[in-house]
Amino acid sequence: MHPDFHPAIDCPVCVQPMTPLAVGRIVVDVCHDGCGGVWFDHFELQKLDEQHETEGDLLAHVGKHPDIARDPVVRLNCPRCADVVLRQHFFCANRKVEVDSCPACGGYWLDHGELGRIRAEFDTAAARALATEEFVRDLDNLHVKEACSRALDKAAQSRSLSAMFRLVGSRYV
Ligand SMILES: [Zn+2]
Ligand SMILES: [Zn+2]
Repeated sequence: MHPDFHPAIDCPVCVQPMTPLAVGRIVVDVCHDGCGGVWFDHFELQKLDEQHETEGDLLAHVGKHPDIARDPVVRLNCPRCADVVLRQHFFCANRKVEVDSCPACGGYWLDHGELGRIRAEFDTAAARALATEEFVRDLDNLHVKEACSRALDKAAQSRSLSAMFRLVGSRYV
C-alpha cells in the first residue's frame, strides 16, 4: 500500500465508517462518538521516528458514545483485511491491558478503555519500553503456534508498538 494512501475503513465493532485523525505526521482511524476505539495501521506507525516524535494525547481527541460498548466475547475482524480475525494479546506484566492485532497487516486495534489503561499503566518511557519488549516476546511465541499468512518483522512490530504507546501518550506530557 502506498504510504500516503489512507482508504476509509469501517469500525470493526460498530460497523460504521471511522474518522481519520491526523496525529503529527500519521493518520489513525477513530470511531468517534461510537465505541471510541482506534485503529493504528502498521504502515502509519512505521512513519514515526523514535527519537524525534513527542508523545501525544490521543485519548483527548476520541469521544465515546456512552451507550456503545464492545462485546468482549466477540472476536473482531481486521478493518483492513477481509476475513482476517484480529488476535487478542495481553501484556504479560500485569495483564491489565489488552490489544488486538492483525496477523496479516500488522495493524493494532485499541478499545476506548484500553487507551485510558495504557495511559495510566505505561506513563513513563521506561514502562512503555518494558511492555513493548514483553509484548514482542509474546508475539514470537504466538507466531510459532499459529501460522501467519505474512509474518511481520519483529523489529518493525516493536517499532509499531512503541509508536502506538507514544501516541496514546501520557497525562503528564
Ligand atoms: Zn466503533
Ligand atoms: Zn489486517
